[in-house]
Amino acid sequence: MNITFIGLGIMGQAMASNLLKNKTPLIVYNRSLEKTEPLKALGAKVATNIAEAVSDADLVISMLADPNAVRELFFASDGVLSHMKAEATWIDCSTVDPNFSREAAVMAQEQNILFIDAPVAGSKPQAEAAVLSFFVGASHQTIAPFENILLQMGQKIIPFEKVGQGSAFKMVVNMLLGQAMVVFSEAIQLGLKLGIDPDFLLNTLPKLPVTAPFTAFKTDNIRSNEYPAEFPLELMLKDLRLATASYTNAGKRLPMAEAAKAQFEAADQAGLGRADFSAVHQYLAALSTK
Ligand code: NAP
Repeated sequence: MNITFIGLGIMGQAMASNLLKNKTPLIVYNRSLEKTEPLKALGAKVATNIAEAVSDADLVISMLADPNAVRELFFASDGVLSHMKAEATWIDCSTVDPNFSREAAVMAQEQNILFIDAPVAGSKPQAEAAVLSFFVGASHQTIAPFENILLQMGQKIIPFEKVGQGSAFKMVVNMLLGQAMVVFSEAIQLGLKLGIDPDFLLNTLPKLPVTAPFTAFKTDNIRSNEYPAEFPLELMLKDLRLATASYTNAGKRLPMAEAAKAQFEAADQAGLGRADFSAVHQYLAALSTK
């Protein structure tokens, strides 16, 4: 199977590396060419244009920032879909909203290409360790021929039968993640204000049953006030925007998600977009001292 990997950011870089470490031949493509260098060193063939990247591919895997990036790269008149072979498969691991995944499936179908949404749970460390979970918008039978590829990058495949439902579940999970980060940060602000020792708060709160367990991995950032990006804050904001838009499109509101989104929006405007999403704490901590 000829495989092409498109999108070599934090996640794509680690995922493509794991395919190469498993001796899976790979063509890689990225908008910024310099990110292909580490993969070239692992044996990837680097494509410098889209036609070269996908013309012979049986499988194209994409890991791009957001729906706009996928749209630009895949749907343009000279884009990826226009250069893919009929009967090839496109697995999109980018976090996008389910409406977008369904649109992608229709666009792909017009070229006789199979589309599968397969966003992932897990961040940079899980991508590096190949322990991601894939939320797949297809049946077990449809994803079966590609399982051995996905399992080189992850350890769990959860099929949701219908196209777009992998993206739908990812929206639900990341809405929880964004809200939980803001809630954790706010709890720390309250504890500090009431005179509780900061180390006690950071050591104890993540272990309580009322707290989201992932917060344990963010306490070092808070302690050091350094937020190297594992999951960039601007992408967390994108996910909260997509989740709330998916719901308000149905004429309803998600008040808690909108409140969390407002905090990420403000942190993004304060220049923290490319820091880790846990940097929303830095923004909230600064507010509390004003
Ligand atoms: P990232 O480091 O910001 O990488 C984004 C990728 O998208 C890069 O390859 C970037 O190319 C490309 N891109 C952005 N806009 C583009 C455009 N207009 N045209 C072409 N390429 C474009 O992001 P990431 O952390 O790897 O995340 C990738 C996806 O996975 C996102 O949907 C994110 O929500 C999701 N995700 C991330 C995590 C995480 O913890 N990081 C976890 C689960 C899911 P350049 O290199 O040229 O900028």
